[in-house]
Amino acid sequence: MTDKPSRNEDEYFVRQEAEILRQRRAELRAEQAAAERRSHYMKCPRDGYDLASQGFHGVTVDICPHCGGMWLDPGELDVISRHDDHRGLLGRIFGDVLKSLRGGTHG
Ligand SMILES: [Zn+2]
Repeated sequence: MTDKPSRNEDEYFVRQEAEILRQRRAELRAEQAAAERRSHYMKCPRDGYDLASQGFHGVTVDICPHCGGMWLDPGELDVISRHDDHRGLLGRIFGDVLKSLRGGTHG
C-alpha cells in the first residue's frame, strides 16, 4: 500500500483551492475598483463636488459649481471645431458658462 495517490489528490485540491482563492481576490479587487470609479462619477476631479451638465449652443459642458472647473464630453471639441464660426461659438459658450456660474453663486 502506498499513500502516493491520496497525496497527489491532496496537492490537487490545495492547488485548486489556491486558484479559487486567487480568482475571488481578483474579483474582489475588480469590484472595489468599479465601486471606486462609480464614487467618482460626475464628481469634480479637483474638489469632489457634484458636476452639473448643462447644454450651451448644442454643446454639453460639465461644470463644477464650487470651483468653476469645466469639462467637455468626448467629441464636443469636434462639434465646436466643425462649426462654421467656431471662435464665435466658443466665445458664446464660455460667455454663457460664466453667466451660469455667476448666477449659481446667488443660490
Ligand atoms: Zn470643483
